[in-house]
Amino acid sequence: MRIREDGRMAEHALPEHAGDIAPEEFRAQGHALVDWVADYLATVEQRPVLSRVRPGQVRAALPAEAPVLPEPFAAVLADVDRIVLPGITHWQHPGFFAYFAITGSAPGILGELLTAALNVNGMLWRTSPSATELEQVVLDWLRRMLGLGDGWFGMINDTASVSSLLALAAAREAAGLDVRTKGTAGRGDLPVLRVYCSTQAHSSVDKAAITLGIGHDNVVHVQTDAQFRMRPDLLAAAVRRDRSVGHRPLAVVATTGTTSTTSIDPVPAIADVAERERMWLHVDGAYGGVAAIVPELRGVLDGVDRADSLVVNPHKWLFTPIDCSAFWTRRPDILERAFTLVPDYLVTTERGEVTDYMNYGVQLGRRFRALKLWMVLRAFGTEGVTARVREHCALARRLADLVDDEPGWQVVAPVPLSTVCFRYVGGGGLDGAELDRRTAAAVDAVNASGEAYLSTTRLAGRTVVRFAIGSLRTQWRHVQRAWDLLRAAVDEAAGVRAS
Ligand code: PLP
Repeated sequence: MRIREDGRMAEHALPEHAGDIAPEEFRAQGHALVDWVADYLATVEQRPVLSRVRPGQVRAALPAEAPVLPEPFAAVLADVDRIVLPGITHWQHPGFFAYFAITGSAPGILGELLTAALNVNGMLWRTSPSATELEQVVLDWLRRMLGLGDGWFGMINDTASVSSLLALAAAREAAGLDVRTKGTAGRGDLPVLRVYCSTQAHSSVDKAAITLGIGHDNVVHVQTDAQFRMRPDLLAAAVRRDRSVGHRPLAVVATTGTTSTTSIDPVPAIADVAERERMWLHVDGAYGGVAAIVPELRGVLDGVDRADSLVVNPHKWLFTPIDCSAFWTRRPDILERAFTLVPDYLVTTERGEVTDYMNYGVQLGRRFRALKLWMVLRAFGTEGVTARVREHCALARRLADLVDDEPGWQVVAPVPLSTVCFRYVGGGGLDGAELDRRTAAAVDAVNASGEAYLSTTRLAGRTVVRFAIGSLRTQWRHVQRAWDLLRAAVDEAAGVRAS
């Protein structure tokens, strides 16, 4: 843009090609892209699950500068095929069994498209009443599907990490320490604040404590029982010990579906301790909470009606494209007290009558995530999602039975949901370190095959395979194949011919 000598901007013509594309062109490109997506989903199984690019390879194939002139959509799509796809690890692949296997279902993908088309920022009720009210309704639906009663306030965040951060921020607010106003630095009147979770809890609890100035050292990782569940007696003892030295127990985070083994902490007994000690009880059901939609698995959320807050991630096991984390609290007044801040430019006449979600968290701008979750739930129906979750658990049990029956292999944790933890134990004569090495090498070999992708964890000091089932595309044949590849890999390493 040119500036004239008198300081005013010169008249200029917008170059014809600058900016957005015309609706008719969009229609054509959109059709081409939807065709691309449909082909991708139909053929994803033929691709190697784990990307095979070397570090820096994708970057090196891309130009250092943005193009000066517009480029045709076909050229962009060609580069997606040529440069981007090789650097994709295919989370939509039926052989994806690492971490927690997830699926962006077709209705969810369409929901993302619609979300982008509307491009709503749902910071205030008035900035799109439908965004706020659909979020409230869809979270009420989901809450009822999980078997939870009334009296919960729901909101959608990007991730469980953020949902748990908000929970602990609310816990700090509830403690009445005036940290919101005065901060923590230089305050002799503040006790040391303590947060409790099990040794199996997700690192997002630690990160929340780091972020909130509680301090990593003040996250107490309570030991678990032989089934990797938090021991409430040890929780009570830790709280007692902390009180005796003047610390302030702030909150306890129970996990229903821990990351390594999907163990389910005994929430009712933990709630007893939380109530007695006046601590905030947050339940992290990021992965496992979803299982409560299956009537026979409803027990995973036993006792949660006594919690102050709960997180369940539809982007983990409810077929909603990442990101979508459902967060509920029974104490929205505290959450609002922790985060309300209304600058002049965001004052509205309906304040007090409506929910302005910006007042319940850190972020101002909010994506319209409820839309895709609503579209998923309507497309599947409660019957559909229930059947899928139930099927994943059945596949996991079937795999666990196979592993149990296989000499030289051992299932090392209960399988309450859809993840199986097991390891190679050999036929005797090999030490623990060698068994760890063989277990890890077998996983590496499977991952190199391109047919499946598994991850590992450490349990009781030993390396174990985590086999997580959660993809809509996974059938028994995919599970069986990955298991066959694992067995063949250890046999090969041991110099035995694979059968
Ligand atoms: N909580 C549990 C139990 C998890 O397993 C995970 C991730 O796997 C998280 C929290 C973090 O989830 P997010 O990636 O949504 O922050």
